[in-house]
Amino acid sequence: MTIQQINSFAAGEWIAPGAGARNIASAVTGDVIASAGNNALDVQGMLDYARNVGGPALRALTFHDRAKMIKALALAISKQKQALYDLSFATGATQSDHMIDIDGGIGTMFVFASKGRREMPDAQIYLDGDLEQLSRHGTFMGQHICTPLQGVAVHINAFNFPVWGMLEKLAPTLLAGVPAIVKPATNSCYVTELAVKIMLDSGVLPAGALQLVSGGIGDMLDHLTLQDVVSFTGSAQTALALRSAPHILENSIRFVAEQDSLNASILGPDAAPGTPEFDLFVKEVQREMTTKAGQKCTAIRRMMVPENHVDAVIKVLSARLDKTQIGDPTLDTTRMGALVSGGQKRDVLEKAAILGQEAERVYGDPENFNVDGADANKGAFLPPMLFHCANPDTAQRVHDTEAFGPVSTIMGYRDVDHAIELVNKGQGSLVASVITHDPAVAREVTIGAGAFHGRLYFNNRDSMKESTGHGSPLPHMVHGGPGRAGGGEEMGGVRGVMHYMQRTAIQGSPDILTAIGEQWVPGAAEIKGPSHPFTRKFGELSIGETLHTDPRIVTLEDIETFAHFTGDTFYAHMDDAAAKRNPFFPGRVAHGYLLLSFAAGMFVEPNEGPVLANTGLDNLRFMKPIEAGESIKVRLTVKKKTPRNDEYGEVRWHVSLTDIEGELAAEYELLTMNSF
Ligand code: NAP
Repeated sequence: MTIQQINSFAAGEWIAPGAGARNIASAVTGDVIASAGNNALDVQGMLDYARNVGGPALRALTFHDRAKMIKALALAISKQKQALYDLSFATGATQSDHMIDIDGGIGTMFVFASKGRREMPDAQIYLDGDLEQLSRHGTFMGQHICTPLQGVAVHINAFNFPVWGMLEKLAPTLLAGVPAIVKPATNSCYVTELAVKIMLDSGVLPAGALQLVSGGIGDMLDHLTLQDVVSFTGSAQTALALRSAPHILENSIRFVAEQDSLNASILGPDAAPGTPEFDLFVKEVQREMTTKAGQKCTAIRRMMVPENHVDAVIKVLSARLDKTQIGDPTLDTTRMGALVSGGQKRDVLEKAAILGQEAERVYGDPENFNVDGADANKGAFLPPMLFHCANPDTAQRVHDTEAFGPVSTIMGYRDVDHAIELVNKGQGSLVASVITHDPAVAREVTIGAGAFHGRLYFNNRDSMKESTGHGSPLPHMVHGGPGRAGGGEEMGGVRGVMHYMQRTAIQGSPDILTAIGEQWVPGAAEIKGPSHPFTRKFGELSIGETLHTDPRIVTLEDIETFAHFTGDTFYAHMDDAAAKRNPFFPGRVAHGYLLLSFAAGMFVEPNEGPVLANTGLDNLRFMKPIEAGESIKVRLTVKKKTPRNDEYGEVRWHVSLTDIEGELAAEYELLTMNSF
């Protein structure tokens, strides 16, 4: 049998394994299938290449350019996913496991590509939050911004998701504009290597944007600087060793840790046998125990069940686990494959023995179980193992021992407070779930347990058909957790991109802030265009380009007509005495919507032109009522431009509507789509 040589990709070159290489065995057969690692890898050269070649190239692009790049990478991987599936079986993963790892990773890239286009600007600086008024007259203001770190992101990943584990970090890193050096866990690095190769071969990435370490990383972390970031996923033990290195601490190097955790699921007090929630709970637990042979950081390790339903859950869950066919993951009939390695299997058995000190094993015998199509003694197979802890209050190890395999412990609770106490005994987790149809229970658990968990997942009969599963981190939602889970946070949409950027508070005049943020700030210079702004194409419009309308008088007849035409005969517009009794109005006033409609009529250029559609209106505020007989005028300014596709882009206009003296009556942002 040929042993595959798993290469690293360093400073633009593929480097074969050399001295210090480690053998990698198939999870299914136990045979050595690959070798990875090379002590001679020039880690300083890799860092320099990322910082000096990859970083500047990425930073020269806008968020939108980088989002397009991520989409192209996802498409490239998607085209070759069969090759990734084929390789992945040797890690012990089944086809449905591949869907989570490979398709899940590709899906994550697509979500980031789309969020980058929709939620980030076509610019190099990201504005974080709103303007802050720092002065009375608005000549000195504040704005938080984020710019990409000027170093490199070192991603150290766990073995269980060789593709998703890389892509969920790579997408936000590249979107931020930061180059990455990926170091997958050696046991499954052959799958990651292929995914990296596909991405590099696609030609989408600038040189230096992506490098790969297969095998050991040497002393790379000792050469990091304040502009670098380490994103670590793995065990708490490794995280502690790496993050507490003096060099990391002395230089305040960012270290994001996603580590093991004792995730829990609560069966709600309302979810008695016979309810859809009871069945759903059993289904979710069975899935979490057996997917990836339980090697999921988010898997349910502890179950909290009403005391009087413990026996029923054990019975129904055991029957379900009994139907889980274990075997060669390439077989269609296999529902659970092997653990990644013999070492991992030994580790799980050791941890199961620790759980056994405080809990009774009520399902699954590692000495006696069926394996279909493979040799149970050679492959890293284990059966699902269910433990029951009768004294969860005095027990400790069931709350702190992570058996990273198909292992879970059930424990009874008296009431919701007790369930909360038990769930929090995990000392911080990635996710806790509650299967309940009672919103009051959901709220109580959120208040009692929210601070201990990175994610709370509620499911019941209403959401079960569309729910995504207790154990699935989603690119839109944050993944990570406090305490035992590592204290880190990843993804969560654009939040995930910020882990690779520096937030900086900017203070200055409106003109300074406009120039930095590439969006017009009230008080900044106005630009007079050569013609009405609605006659100008997307590309012709400048930020700050402004139209001042002529004034228009608002008459009582206008108010009457508008009221009867629309049916909005609210008393403040119709009844002078009643309006006067209201603390906000001096008497009968114009409808706010009448003012908006007049404003549109005042600034419109009616002929066919580059404005294709009015797509919305944001941040509308009415500040001062307008009475009959008063005149209004409008200022329309190009605030921001966001390309949407090759044909048109969104123009965000700042609109201020004032009385004749210039006092603000209404302010809002108008959105239009303008052709290029
Ligand atoms: P691990 O043994 O801690 O290894 C994690 C990563 O660290 C691997 O890439 C490993 O590389 C690397 N590593 C180990 N020692 C290192 C060192 N001295 N310097 C630099 N890198 C080093 O964890 P694992 O066994 O791969 O993964 C299982 C654990 O990960 C479980 O505890 C699980 O809960 C956790 N996990 C957490 C998440 C999450 O998102 N929170 C996700 C998945 C898994 P080598 O393989 O080359 O040693």
